[in-house]
Amino acid sequence: MSSAPASTLRYLQGYPLETLAQVEKLLAQGRVADWLQQKYPQAHTVRTDRALFDYVQALKAEYLRGADPVGKVLFDAKLHVVKNALGTHTTVSRVQGNKLKAKREIRVATLFKTVPDEFLRMITVHELAHLKERAHDKAFYSLCSHMEPRYHQLEFEVRVYLTHLEVAGAKLWGAAGMAE
Ligand SMILES: [Zn+2]
Repeated sequence: MSSAPASTLRYLQGYPLETLAQVEKLLAQGRVADWLQQKYPQAHTVRTDRALFDYVQALKAEYLRGADPVGKVLFDAKLHVVKNALGTHTTVSRVQGNKLKAKREIRVATLFKTVPDEFLRMITVHELAHLKERAHDKAFYSLCSHMEPRYHQLEFEVRVYLTHLEVAGAKLWGAAGMAE
């Protein structure tokens, strides 16, 4: 059986070759969907930007109370996960009175609307961690793991799902007829 072309594993760059081989095998056998759906039978119920805002604020209040406030949170349909890794975080500076106030904004790709709660949690933890750590370095990942002990496993599974979407195209948890 031929292995999946390297380009299909672009979401998984940096993982050990052994792991990549396992993913390629699952892809070739068409078993990725089963594997993920068995682990995570249901999608989360965060359907709107307002609900996402609350979801993000709740996690922030629990772990990052002292970090910059997040003023805006939204699902972004234009966000391309390939270009922007997993989400974006920007700082919008505004002059308020005589002070320059930085307000953080978190955008999550719309495809995360129809994923298990664990995946939404992973992306949220990732973006929140950037409030404190800009680079994807050791400090960043240790903060992610502090907020979500399964962080590394979940990021891996999210990347496998992105690979599945690219190869097979079919969403695994999408509610029927839901607008993008
Ligand atoms: Zn990042």
